[in-house]
Amino acid sequence: MSTVIDLVRAMGWLDEAVYVAAPMASVAEVTKFHDPDYVAALRRAEETQTVSDADRTRFRIGADNNPVYPEIFRRPMTSAGGAITAARMTLPGGIVYCPGAGTHHGRPARASGFCYLNDPVLAMLTWLDAGLERIVYLDIDAHHGDGVQDAFAGDGRVLTISVHEAGRWPYTGLAGDRAGGTARNFPVPPGFNDSEMRVLMQEAILPLIDAARPQAIFLQCGADALEEDPLARLSLSNNAYWATVAAVMPLAPRLIVVGGGGYNPYTVGRCWAGIWATLNGFPIPATLPEAAQTVLRRLVYNRAAGRNPPPHWTTTLRDAPRDGPVREEIRRLAAVTLQED
Ligand SMILES: [Zn+2]
Repeated sequence: MSTVIDLVRAMGWLDEAVYVAAPMASVAEVTKFHDPDYVAALRRAEETQTVSDADRTRFRIGADNNPVYPEIFRRPMTSAGGAITAARMTLPGGIVYCPGAGTHHGRPARASGFCYLNDPVLAMLTWLDAGLERIVYLDIDAHHGDGVQDAFAGDGRVLTISVHEAGRWPYTGLAGDRAGGTARNFPVPPGFNDSEMRVLMQEAILPLIDAARPQAIFLQCGADALEEDPLARLSLSNNAYWATVAAVMPLAPRLIVVGGGGYNPYTVGRCWAGIWATLNGFPIPATLPEAAQTVLRRLVYNRAAGRNPPPHWTTTLRDAPRDGPVREEIRRLAAVTLQED
């Protein structure tokens, strides 16, 4: 997150007049979705920096991929606060980018996949409470947006659409999984490239959004579907992310864009800084100015690739396009998803 902010500042892209620091959400705000006992357990975990057996078993705090860390209460409460603030700010219309939010696996009373609270759900509940009735949630993180899909399953006001790697944790979001009609899922194969994403967008996702006539769109841009992310095996370039942002911008009067997963700090920072440029129409230079390169050169990445980062990780924002053949299964997926229930 700090890299994204530092990068857009170094590019001269951050007018301080439009920058709003996310406030911590209140307990009352997050308990619109989350169990008060669970929220209290998160606070206890931060205060004591440990977790009781009972809390671990019941709430999965300090278990699975949900470690106890120094800001385990404040950090999730702040990204939730950012998302809720974004929903309030966009009620009259407009666009808010909140890259620190996007925890799409969070459950009402359980941590899941390093998500403790569910920012997208809390933001969209804010929209719904204000009277909006047609919302589209689009999630292009490499993992299925299971927590969001399940939160709104059967609620005809929210259509959730997720593109994610097939066969990857949490193993949900199969092509036929429609959550009773309120979800569409695109489980894509390893190697999923920019050309394939373009086909899914044009042939399925944009028609689905059009048909929903959304009053608001919530776009989750987890950066782990990028080729150079170490966790998933998808092969998008950041051009595919920016094209997705540009394509959904005109489709509703309200838009919130958030981040999500992403495990290579160079590719996350470059992708998410470029989303801000896309939202604002700022041209992205072929070579970054010195101040922006300095931000990227200071990053630490504790993996083999991080010891000798390739030059484009520190000198450019835009990846080389990763176009490729469009596999038959991608076209089939698009067609299946458009079939009537
Ligand atoms: Zn992810």
